[in-house]
Amino acid sequence: MKNIKGSSYPENFCWQCGNPNVTWYAPNELWNKLCKREEIICPLCFQKRANKNGINLIFTTEVIQNTKN
Ligand SMILES: [Zn+2]
Repeated sequence: MKNIKGSSYPENFCWQCGNPNVTWYAPNELWNKLCKREEIICPLCFQKRANKNGINLIFTTEVIQNTKN
């Protein structure tokens, strides 16, 4: 496995499971409760972590064009 954190695109991989990641957002309050600020994890790992902490999440999907690239 390549060094995920050393990748030139660290956000493309989940730092927990190493699988490809998508660009996604969670509410800051939830993120700060479950993650380190600079950490990058995928939605599935986020949900698993929430479950372990007794938080039941529901994901909704909004797909928008990223105009920053
Ligand atoms: Zn993951």
